[in-house]
Amino acid sequence: MTDYRLFIGGEWIESHSGRHLDAVNPFNQEVWATVPEADPADVDRAVAAARRTFDQTWSKMSGLARAQMMNRLADLLDQHAHRMAVLESTDNGKVIRETENQMHFAARNYRFFAGYADKLYGEVIPLDNPALLDYTLREPVGVCALIIAWNSPMQLLANKLAPALAAGNTVVVKPSEHASVTTLEFAKLVEAAGFPAGVFNVVTGGPAVGDYLTRHPGVDKISFTGGPGTGRVIARNASENLVPVTLELGGKSPNIIFADANLPRAITGAVAGIFAASGQSCIAGSRLLVERAVYNQVMDELVRRARRIRLGNPLEPATEMGPVANQPQYERIVDRIQQGITEGARLVTGGTVKDPGLERGYFIAPTVFGDVAPEMTIAQEEIFGPVLSVIPFDTEDQAVSIANATNYGLAAGVWTENLSRAHRLARALKAGTVWVNTYRTSAAQAPFGGVKRSGYGRERGWHALAEYLVVKNVMIDLSQEDRDPFSIRT
Ligand code: NAD
Repeated sequence: MTDYRLFIGGEWIESHSGRHLDAVNPFNQEVWATVPEADPADVDRAVAAARRTFDQTWSKMSGLARAQMMNRLADLLDQHAHRMAVLESTDNGKVIRETENQMHFAARNYRFFAGYADKLYGEVIPLDNPALLDYTLREPVGVCALIIAWNSPMQLLANKLAPALAAGNTVVVKPSEHASVTTLEFAKLVEAAGFPAGVFNVVTGGPAVGDYLTRHPGVDKISFTGGPGTGRVIARNASENLVPVTLELGGKSPNIIFADANLPRAITGAVAGIFAASGQSCIAGSRLLVERAVYNQVMDELVRRARRIRLGNPLEPATEMGPVANQPQYERIVDRIQQGITEGARLVTGGTVKDPGLERGYFIAPTVFGDVAPEMTIAQEEIFGPVLSVIPFDTEDQAVSIANATNYGLAAGVWTENLSRAHRLARALKAGTVWVNTYRTSAAQAPFGGVKRSGYGRERGWHALAEYLVVKNVMIDLSQEDRDPFSIRT
């Protein structure tokens, strides 16, 4: 049992309120750590520390110095990957085989963006008037508020923090109240990597802390990962101070299997799409669209595979699906399954788990609904759990129109051996990411983000840097002529 403190201005401090939140292990419902519940005074202090360091130290450092620290941080995260993965799996129930990979993937992101830190130059722009010299500077935005969800804290943080640091910003991070421990542990690695005090600050707590932080006049930029409802509140908060905001929100992503696909691989992709991470993944392929000619064949094999998935302790390497992350999430998923049944979808397998060995954990069995109508709630609303809606289709046009008929647009998968069809679908699908013959594959270099209600802005890839930089234009008159003060010079 560890009692954590806030990390502000390079110091580990008690929260101003003295209150704490319990960290609950979703596998056995035991309280295994506590984290401080920050209040506005803590947030004020964190924003002030980030501002001070930005103005006095960090923005004056060379890109090379920033890159060296980021590379050290990546090395430390790799070295501590197993320990950090154990903590994250204990906090959110995600299986260790995934959390450990995510630590290395996060490290890869710090290295990728470290490579940009000393290459953020602008451009010289030729103008019509040769007497004018015009060039751009790419400058950090300032103090960034980074707010993340509970499903993959270290990976979600890396998506934001790596480009923010490379660009020369300082940050205040607010992890989810349901999974804060690894963000606080990560602060120890930031310290060990030699970052100046105040570059990285952590305030823990619930929505009230996030709300205060995102309305704070000392914050220059907000980046948020979480649900669309919260995203709306945050966009409103950002508008109060007119600061830019990046929103990474939910999804109801279609995974489309055509009859001409390599079916064994496609079915593996469908299983990975919805049951990995117990479906608690923004990119979950939660709608499986299957061409009618292979519908029964795909369904039979899918259900067979779903029933074989090993549920258990997320810390055991053999476990394939752990519990869902917390009690409210468990209750939401159970409600949604019930709603699917009420609306007339056919529950083929899954639901709650009766296994006595798992009864203290928040377990939901891999759940498959068949013959789902595209307009049903389970095919429209994000469930964020291991619940798959399988929808048959007859033609390519019909598949595209069903795929695009939700409010979301985060990701989409296409399984086909037909090259032209793959490219047609890549263009026709309204999503920030289209995977062809793969699903749930990530790369530090590949931009990621949503369209429609899945949010705006991009993470990863060089596109992410733009979210944390401001372009300044500099224009210099090289001539020595006097000029007419009442007309614009071009
Ligand atoms: P959530 O929106 O409930 O909470 C996310 C974070 O926002 C938490 O830190 C929370 O404390 C904070 N928060 C809540 N209310 C706030 C407010 N009024 N002002 C400021 N901060 C506030 O989401 P969640 O339940 O933690 O995560 C699940 C959601 O996250 C799903 O919708 C999922 O799709 C989405 N998600 C998206 C991505 C992506 O990259 N697109 C990745 C992971 C999760």
